[in-house]
Amino acid sequence: MKTYTGYLTFNTAKKQEFINITDQVEEALRKSTIREGLCLVNAMHITSSVFINDDESGLHKDFSVWLEKLAPFGKDKYQHNLTGEDNADAHLKRTIMGREVVVAVTNGKLDFGPWEQIFYGEFDGQRRKRVLVKIIGE
Ligand code: ZN
Repeated sequence: MKTYTGYLTFNTAKKQEFINITDQVEEALRKSTIREGLCLVNAMHITSSVFINDDESGLHKDFSVWLEKLAPFGKDKYQHNLTGEDNADAHLKRTIMGREVVVAVTNGKLDFGPWEQIFYGEFDGQRRKRVLVKIIGE
């Protein structure tokens, strides 16, 4: 069995962003030379996500509005922020949008369903963060 471990780094201009990372994960898969197996992609920070969905800008605005309704930004709204932090909303948004995805690797390609793309979701950005790409197979 072969294994590949790679890291993607992000430092977003805005506090909240969605970035399509499909090309970067496909590049990691090419480097791995793995043809059949599994590809795990996970955010390594508790205020950012990795998720799979459609690359459609209206949908991304819908995600933002929905998340802001569920967990609005606000220093005085949360117990967690009593610690002096201001990012409780980002922890909640991360939990809703998920930590990781696993994609099957078939014949050297990420075996997506129709319209599936991989996104990095940042909820407390403007600092350096990492995403792990781990691929196993043969
Ligand atoms: Zn925090």
